[in-house]
Amino acid sequence: MSYTAPVAEMRFVLEEVAEVDRLATLPGYEAASPDLVDAILEEAARLAGNELAPLNQPADRAGSVLENGVVRTPPGFREAYARYVEGGWNGLAFDPEYGGQGLPLALAIPVAEMWNSACMSFALCPLLTVGAVELLQAHGSDEQKRRYLGKLVSGEWTGTMNLTEPQAGSDLGAMRSRAVPAHDPRWGEHYRITGQKIFITYGDHDLAPNIVHMVLARTPEGSPGSRGISLFLVPKLLPDDAGGAGSRNDIRTLSLEHKLGIHASPTCVLAYGEDEGAVGWRIGEENRGLEYMFTMMNAARLNVGLQGVAIAERAYQQARDFARIRVQGRPLGAAANAEALSIIHHPDVRRMLLWMRTATEAMRALAYYTAGMIDQGRRHPEPAARRAAERRADLLIPVVKAWCTDLGVAVASTGIQVHGGMGYVEETGAAQHLRDARIAPIYEGTNGIQANDLVGRKLARDRGEAAAALVAEMRATASTLGADDRAGGASITRQLEGGLGALETANSFLVEAEPALAAAGSAPYLQLLGTVCAGWLMARMAISAQRRGAANGSDTAFLAAKRATARFYAEHFLALAPGYLPAILGGGTVLELDPDQL
Ligand SMILES: Cc1cc2nc3c(=O)[nH]c(=O)nc-3n(C[C@H](O)[C@H](O)[C@H](O)COP(=O)(O)OP(=O)(O)OC[C@H]3O[C@@H](n4cnc5c(N)ncnc54)[C@H](O)[C@@H]3O)c2cc1C
Repeated sequence: MSYTAPVAEMRFVLEEVAEVDRLATLPGYEAASPDLVDAILEEAARLAGNELAPLNQPADRAGSVLENGVVRTPPGFREAYARYVEGGWNGLAFDPEYGGQGLPLALAIPVAEMWNSACMSFALCPLLTVGAVELLQAHGSDEQKRRYLGKLVSGEWTGTMNLTEPQAGSDLGAMRSRAVPAHDPRWGEHYRITGQKIFITYGDHDLAPNIVHMVLARTPEGSPGSRGISLFLVPKLLPDDAGGAGSRNDIRTLSLEHKLGIHASPTCVLAYGEDEGAVGWRIGEENRGLEYMFTMMNAARLNVGLQGVAIAERAYQQARDFARIRVQGRPLGAAANAEALSIIHHPDVRRMLLWMRTATEAMRALAYYTAGMIDQGRRHPEPAARRAAERRADLLIPVVKAWCTDLGVAVASTGIQVHGGMGYVEETGAAQHLRDARIAPIYEGTNGIQANDLVGRKLARDRGEAAAALVAEMRATASTLGADDRAGGASITRQLEGGLGALETANSFLVEAEPALAAAGSAPYLQLLGTVCAGWLMARMAISAQRRGAANGSDTAFLAAKRATARFYAEHFLALAPGYLPAILGGGTVLELDPDQL
């Protein structure tokens, strides 16, 4: 049940894929020196492995509970959260003006991966706070930033996202919560918020004295549909004169959801304004709430994609450790009285474990790469490079979110398979990883919505230009690799080129296709793009491993393993990529049966 953060692997991906040394040359990121990167990874690994990981299974059993209107998190969470805040972990990538450390997002990402591997239910609380900070940083007034940002950046107070209502999930335009302007000298110009929000992660808890809810609601002038929605800051406790947590706002936790997984994360039904209306303040301009939400979606979706990586890593470590001790069967071809072996010696178990490990490495590379692009998009001094990085990140965000979370579920499921029956019963903890992983393809925009976004917006808006630029870069890597077989190049190049050919055909088809046909092929297209793009990054890592091995002759086992997983990825993942093409081109078949025939 233990977890050890894969620090060497994380450092390698940060250096070779996210190019953290290049990020450290960008204005404002100079502090991200190799020594600091090492210190952060090592220290985070200690907290994650020693303090959070042991909470994961007991917290799943205890769950969060609602008692007399108050939510209590499982034993150990309060102490762990206090350690997290004390360590300054919340503010790694935030503005130093508000107490953050101003480091690249790419460095905060492996750290967040560790929290999620150690205990995903716990990590959700900071994940939501990060979203609130991003919103306030980008759109809050000076007064709102002064009052709230410091406390959210430090983690002293936590944040939530309040979008979903019973009739408004993927379609937020159906939202009904109301915000009516009010005048009261105690609160200045403010609004009274009424309505019900459901599925609110950490909507109430006992980890921090105050919670700052980011709430979408409609003002009286707000037109119907998604354009008439505004964003409000609604604290659980209203600030007192000294800026601390004062009197209670009109918000009540009606219930906690009973869920398949993440039992320790309280998923709340919140009633706003049952009495006089909850006091809230508008963030930014009226009617621009959804647009503001989308500005923080990149980081939030990246973080949810990362949950797929994190759970996969935990499931892999658990399955590998179990396979080392479970004795069953004899070597192939051995005599009946030969000594029995642990299952890790069986070729098919080795295949499953390598599949889990390789999938996790590929997902991690894609997530860290995209984080590096977000950093370059924010800080690159040249506008053209900034714009190109932004477009690359925009294209890949839905892929990271959906491809990594779907694959995370598959890896957790394979982890159960490695355990045999002991994986299906709760005792070992393997089943918890699958239960926990299963939410990630659903929240923060379902994976179907991600596929729509990828094809309907990201591909359509520039008629495939950003995708074509990515394909060109991937082709350049394929030819470098093809010319050098020392990194296992021939087999990787063959599979990468097969995937790239399929991707080009799909791109040309989708930019011309009718919207319904394109939408029907969008999910397999997202899988194709994820598989090929991660394959490209695996190939780049094989080249780097070859170069490093030749240069210094150290870390040979680690570097040889990187080349082996790149080849395995090419044969077991990339080779399947062209198989997505018929489903992408075959949107017509999807639509052949009418809804009433399904
Ligand atoms: C544990 C948990 C925690 C959550 N935390 C939060 C939170 O903190 N804050 C918050 O605001 N919300 C939260 N949510 C809500 C979550 O974001 C929504 O559940 C999610 O966006 C999907 O909405 P829905 O459940 O209404 O599903 P629906 O929108 O009803 O979707 C059902 C199915 O239809 C598909 N679908 C719907 N519309 C389309 C379309 N236009 N095109 C193609 N397919 C479509 C979906 O992909 C899905 O497969 C949470 C949910 C859960 C379960």
